[in-house]
Amino acid sequence: MEFTEAQLRRYARHIILPEVGGIGQSKLLAARVLVVGAGGLGSPLLMYLAAAGVGTLGVIDDDRVDLSNLQRQIIHATSRVGMDKAESARLTLAEINPEVRVEARAERLTAANALDLIAGYDLVADGSDNFATRYLVNDACYFARVPLVSAAMLRFDGQIATFKAYREGDHPCYRCLFREPPRPGLIPSCSEAGILGALAGTLGALQATEVLKEILAIGDGLSGRLILYDALAASFQTVRVKRDPDCPLCGARATIADLSAHAA
Ligand SMILES: [Zn+2]
Repeated sequence: MEFTEAQLRRYARHIILPEVGGIGQSKLLAARVLVVGAGGLGSPLLMYLAAAGVGTLGVIDDDRVDLSNLQRQIIHATSRVGMDKAESARLTLAEINPEVRVEARAERLTAANALDLIAGYDLVADGSDNFATRYLVNDACYFARVPLVSAAMLRFDGQIATFKAYREGDHPCYRCLFREPPRPGLIPSCSEAGILGALAGTLGALQATEVLKEILAIGDGLSGRLILYDALAASFQTVRVKRDPDCPLCGARATIADLSAHAA
């Protein structure tokens, strides 16, 4: 792939890295990544992926910008309170890198649209803020055979892992770790329990890094490993996670065959 003069300058710090180079940058420009949620995680994630030159970024979020979002959702702005988050994200990304094609969808990811949507991308990064969506994304990525970089956070704690359970070998899915969603109300949401805004930056940037590594096929990915970040202790912990042979989604006697359980 031939780069323009502007591209050579914009991506110079990537291209000079032996692990990326011109070939790697071409891979990024050709890549299609779907980000679920333009919130705390999605903000830094989308901004770094756009800056990196990921050619096509899908963003799906049915929410509108609220004043209480701005403490951590840095892709949005005070002047955009009330605007669809997907549209607000598109505006910011176009400013960062107009080369990136943004496919903004101001709708909710559902059992009806998830498979078709996800199958159109090379990779999904989940930055959603609720368990229903997190399990839906996990199941849909498994059926569509699309790798998933998933992160979550609350208060001062965050976690991140990558899932490609559709592959042979010891690649677990999210349900191998947490089989069923917790009962509603058991785990509080960020609006109920609070969250340190900058934590979203840490986790979202980690997520962006893992997405770029997956596209570039460099380094050690996070499939089979869960990173736990404790911001108050300022400590990272890496936990090995294995495929659960009895997993209802990816196990030998799987009971989940489609997304019908997600249709409410
Ligand atoms: Zn599984």
